[in-house]
Parts: sequence; structure tokens; C-alpha cells
Amino acid sequence: MQRGTFQLMKSVNKSIILNKVRTSEPISRAQIAKETKLTPPTVSSIVKELLEEGIVRESSLGESKGGRKPTMLHIDPNAFYIVGVDAGPESVTSILTDLAGNIVHRADSQLYTPITNEQFMGILKDAIRETILAPSREKRDIIGIGVAMHGVVNIDSGTSLIAPNLKLKNIPIKAELEREFSLKVKVENDARAMALGESWFGGHASSSMVAVNIGRGVGAGLVINGKLYHGDRDIAGEIGHMTIDLNGPVCTCGNTGCLQAFVAGPAITARSQKEGVTGEEIAKLAQGGDKEAKDLLKETGKLIGIGLVNLIHLVNPEKIVLGGGVMKSEKFMLPTVKETISDRGLTTDAKETNVSVTKLGDHATLLGAVALLLVELFDPVG
Ligand SMILES: [Zn+2]
Repeated sequence: MQRGTFQLMKSVNKSIILNKVRTSEPISRAQIAKETKLTPPTVSSIVKELLEEGIVRESSLGESKGGRKPTMLHIDPNAFYIVGVDAGPESVTSILTDLAGNIVHRADSQLYTPITNEQFMGILKDAIRETILAPSREKRDIIGIGVAMHGVVNIDSGTSLIAPNLKLKNIPIKAELEREFSLKVKVENDARAMALGESWFGGHASSSMVAVNIGRGVGAGLVINGKLYHGDRDIAGEIGHMTIDLNGPVCTCGNTGCLQAFVAGPAITARSQKEGVTGEEIAKLAQGGDKEAKDLLKETGKLIGIGLVNLIHLVNPEKIVLGGGVMKSEKFMLPTVKETISDRGLTTDAKETNVSVTKLGDHATLLGAVALLLVELFDPVG
């Protein structure tokens, strides 16, 4: 779908109806009118458009209280495709999905350093081109491209301001991709995108949710009433740089004792007594029963728990979802995470905050990139 088409698709009432069908399907026209307070003629005429566009389809499974069964409406997940990209720091992955997040095609590329802005954009464009031209793709329109970019992102201009691991600055991702593909492009920080993906696809219909990504770095995204919270100057969610020990190790940001300096992948291997061991090796050793590795991960769980207690006392989210490479060892960490929250939480409710590990696995960030576009399409005020 070209950018102009996207705008045509989007009117406030249309999004209200689309979102109602998405969250309440199957649903009848009468029920939509009742629940959205739009007039029945308005609902009928917009539903007619949505049927013509193919995004909504009809079935007649509705229950009737006498009289004929009402025609029920559903979202047709195959109506459109979306491209979602997880960009760096070590690789670029691009997926093509339907509206329900089912992956139709996937393209992976490795990044290398040193790398220039132009080389980075070249790899990004190649991965996206491959997904768009996927042989399995049927002749259906693509709504747009969502990019989950590591580092600091200006979401309005879609620019990567700082990509520290690649030592790049000011990459005009949105402008270049829109020019190249003539599609709508949304760019967001990867941890925030992951949070949105969790909220959209992870079955977390909650009023407030924090997703914390613990991998090579530590980042978080806050979703409040279905919306990402960015803060005044776009740094909300930088939980990785919350100080948990004044005398702790030096962090990549230059401060000492940041949460990230204790619990990110490289920080865990640095705390190990085994020289030159990788994070994967520590996970394997723990699986095999190695006491030092198990203790190291348990202690990591406790440190994560301390960061989460601070987060709970500040934000008081309904749910916390943990993801990222480090959480693959959840078996050894989650018990001490929960124990620490239970020990230190201020109230019973704080102690019992719902903490879980993402069910979307490695796809959480990619699906978050996809969700960046879905929010635009379905959300009346998105
Ligand atoms: Zn830091």
C-alpha cells in the first residue's frame, strides 16, 4: 500500500470500528454501534468500505434472540502484510507478516564493524527488499515498514541519533526507507518496540505494562493504556542505567553501578570466575549442573529483582514482562527475581506484581516492529 492509500484507510471512525472488531470479534454491526456510540448508518457505511477493502469479512455465526441470526464481522488477517525489522546491534532481521503477526517470510543479515551509515542502510534495504519480494507473498498490499532500532531514536523524524554498538550517529532511517520503498515507515527504539509487541501480541491486555529487555544491554518500554510512554525527552525506560550500587562496576555509559553493568550479557560473563567464558557457555554450564554458573545466574536474578523493585515503586505496573538473550536462562533467574521483589516490595500488592518471561521469544522485538504499524492502522488516536 502506498503512503496515500494508508491515509485513505485512516479516519477516526474507521479506526474505532476496526479496533472494535479486532478486540471483540466476532461482532455484529448492531453491537458495534451500541458499544462505540456511532450511529447505525455510520457503522454500516464504514463496514461496507472495510468489506470492500478486504480487511473485514463476514460470517453468520452470531447468536440471535429470536429472529434471524445477525451477520458477524471478523478481521481478515490475510488482508494486508506488514514488514517488521529488528536492526542490530549485531544483525538485521526483516520479516513479512499478516495482520495477526503470522510470519510469511524472514531475511537475516549479519552486521560488521567498522561500518558507515551508508553501509548500514544498504544492509537494511537489502533485507527489506528480500522480504517484500518474498516468493511466498501473494499479491496483497503492504501497509508499511516498522523498524526496531537499537540505541537512541528520534521517533518523529525516524532518525537513529546514536547507535553506540556500531559507533554510528544520525542515520536517517525513515527518510531513506520511505524514499526507497514508497511505504509508510515507523522507527522506534528496540526495547520500546518489544514492549509494544508484547502488549499487542503477547496477550497482555493490561492497563499498564513494562517490558524489560536484558541482552547485550538493558532497556525497557512502558505501555500505558495501549500506548508507548516516551517521557518528555524520549528517555523514559532507560532502566539499564538506573544506579543500583554506587561502588559498582563502570557501565558503558560512563557511570558506575548501573543495573546494566551487573546483569547485561557481557556483565554476567565479566562477573564469572571462568576466564573468557561466553554467556551461552554459562547458560550451558548451569544446565549441566555447574554450581558456580548456577550461583552466578541466581545472583543475576537477585540484581534484576532489585532493579524491578525500583521500577515497581516508581511506575507500579500491572505486569512486567522480561525478554532478551539473558532471560533464556530464566529457570535459574526467575525464582530469585521474584524472591527479591517479594522481600523488598513496599506493599503486598507490590510484592505480588505479575512478572513473567515473554512467550514471544526471539520474535518479541520483530513483532513489536510490526505492531508499530498496526497501532497506526487500528488505533483511533494513533
Ligand atoms: Zn549506565
